[in-house]
Amino acid sequence: MKYIDGFRNHRTARVITEEIHELAEQAGDARLMEVCGSHTMSIARYGIRKILPRSVRLISGPGCPVCVTDAAYIDAAVELAGKGIHVATFGDMLKVPGSSGTLAGARSEGAHIHVCYSPLDALRIAAENPSEQVVFLAIGFETTIPPVISILKRAAAQNIQNVSILTAFKLVPPALEALADDRDVAVNGFLLPPHVSAIIGAGAYRGFVRDYRLPGVIAGFEPLDILLGVRDLLQQLAEGKAELVNQYERVVREQGNRIALALMDHYLKTADASWRGIGTIPGSGLVLREEFLNYDATVKFGVSVQGGKPDMRCRCGDVLRGIIFPDECPLFNTECTPVSPVGPCMVSSEGSCAAYFKYSR
Ligand code: SF4
Repeated sequence: MKYIDGFRNHRTARVITEEIHELAEQAGDARLMEVCGSHTMSIARYGIRKILPRSVRLISGPGCPVCVTDAAYIDAAVELAGKGIHVATFGDMLKVPGSSGTLAGARSEGAHIHVCYSPLDALRIAAENPSEQVVFLAIGFETTIPPVISILKRAAAQNIQNVSILTAFKLVPPALEALADDRDVAVNGFLLPPHVSAIIGAGAYRGFVRDYRLPGVIAGFEPLDILLGVRDLLQQLAEGKAELVNQYERVVREQGNRIALALMDHYLKTADASWRGIGTIPGSGLVLREEFLNYDATVKFGVSVQGGKPDMRCRCGDVLRGIIFPDECPLFNTECTPVSPVGPCMVSSEGSCAAYFKYSR
């Protein structure tokens, strides 16, 4: 705890906050996007927005994997469950609305929906039910992808053939480019996701920062990490620079995690991916390579992940692009609450709407 306490020291926070206020006067209006859902939660939890100058706005990005999962994907998972297949998933996915239902609803009607704490749970369920089929809902960013993919390696080693995955993997760097290209977003700098960066490495952003001339800082989740990240972004804006700063050197290396990257490359290839409320971003997803399609639930069971119809009143897409704050959605805290969410941003523990509901009402 001593280590964590150091990153929550209020005296140091005050010093950094004073630096932020001084730099803000030189930097002018700044819209800084935190890309990661865990950053969003930390910023809300520690009240960081409230201690920043008015000219500095922290806006949330699309880095919550549950939030960007398409309604069509939920529909496919519900369809699989309807076929009697065991669906294994992280708990956040249960309440995410599809076109007309949720996995929680399917479970209440008797479907085999298992909440997992690790992808390995899916293997255990498959081993315990050898005559049944098990599908793991493989969503997530670069942080989550390696542990999910590793179950395929273990399944092959243990000759477990009744497990497969429904992929909706997403990649952060192509999303950054899409956000930078999006005129409505108008962002001046990025607080970059620490755990994703631990996998892909700081070097993965250098081309983006250079080409788009947008500063980026990799920062951890503790309050001082975030304040230092904001300070470094403002410093660059004040000096007219656009560089990549790795504030999270205690974890993130330039080249990332080579073992994890090799594992991903072995099983997966890039593909276009659909992001809920945002649309298709070229090259922003990963799907199984041809030689591993025996693990692909869409191929194995003939389901398609297309044509979802989300509730069009939900403005998650605008929230995830930082165009509106959650409390600007007319449904926030009226029709849409964590108990009865209309959109995924209110469901996930990393969702912007859930963070606002919990900490900022
Ligand atoms: S408050 Fe609910 S309906 Fe509105 S954007 Fe957030 S999740 Fe969607």
